[in-house]
Amino acid sequence: MVLLTDAYGRVMRYLRLSVTDRCNLRCRYCRNGKFERFIPHADILRYEEMLRFVGLATALGISKIRITGGEPFVRKGCASFLAMLRQRWPALDLHITTNGTLLEPHVPLLAHLGVKAVNLSLDSFDRATFAAVTGRDVLPAVIASMDKLLTTGLRVKINVVAVRGVNDTQVDDFVHAAKTLPVDLRFIEFMPMGSGTPWNRENFWPAVEIEEEISRRVRLTPITDNQENAGPARMYAVAGGRGRIGFITSMTDHFCRACNRLRLTSDGHVRTCLFTDREYNMRDLLREKRVSDLRLADTLRRICSLKPIGADILRLRASGKAVAKRRMTSIGG
Ligand code: SAM
Repeated sequence: MVLLTDAYGRVMRYLRLSVTDRCNLRCRYCRNGKFERFIPHADILRYEEMLRFVGLATALGISKIRITGGEPFVRKGCASFLAMLRQRWPALDLHITTNGTLLEPHVPLLAHLGVKAVNLSLDSFDRATFAAVTGRDVLPAVIASMDKLLTTGLRVKINVVAVRGVNDTQVDDFVHAAKTLPVDLRFIEFMPMGSGTPWNRENFWPAVEIEEEISRRVRLTPITDNQENAGPARMYAVAGGRGRIGFITSMTDHFCRACNRLRLTSDGHVRTCLFTDREYNMRDLLREKRVSDLRLADTLRRICSLKPIGADILRLRASGKAVAKRRMTSIGG
């Protein structure tokens, strides 16, 4: 098999596939109301086009796919799309990132399809804070989805975007959750994504400081198992806890050298790195009848060979300046 490799010897194994840029929440750090403009429907890839892309990618060594958005379940037919992925590629590692608001009815299907883990974005266990962050008072629906995932036996990872002045006063709640729930609770450092990002030095809450705060409350023991540490999160066992705590240090300690990711935006653009706006329009190629799978595969290989080291790009930017023009909601995280 010819693999997707780059100039630094990295091999692409993981595709983050955004099925929509639309979302039913308005998270303060993710999208900025002032710049709200959705991608026109005609420009969004149809599911068949996504399946064709996945076929190419898997033939070139991609073995893990994460469905993301916007909010994936806002797009009609998302659950059927997942079923199609599973049917065509039974060995694929399937993952989902969701805000959990519309998830509950789909949980049995996800279990049936053997989804490996569900990443739930949940920035606060406090209802008022949750509503303030997301613009909607829907924490109970997210908790109901989480409970259903857990009772169904699905693996749950909770993503907390750490923002000082927003959820830094809720460390006790997070520790309580990691002690009582069998989940991986991961703090993601806030990234200045998208023009108009509300990121600044004051609201940036670095992982080292979160770790210190937590360590004052509970003993954290690093997980050394390589398999368990394969992702970007540095994971810790929580003394006496059912869950674990992790830190995704996107801003302060880069994991670019081990990055094996590729992103496909909902409008069919390949991004090889979160931190650059360099994108490659695959949609037009996918829609051009004369373009064969062979040519598409060749194009994808060339795109991947140019994957940059994101940390180098970050270093060249003035601190606080947006690292990408697109907002997270249209990239998929
Ligand atoms: N709607 C889904 C959700 O809420 O999980 C998927 C899309 S969301 C854009 C994917 C992930 O990106 C979420 O975990 C979200 O919290 C994270 N995210 C969004 N903006 C971010 C930012 N500026 N810095 C760090 N993480 C961010």
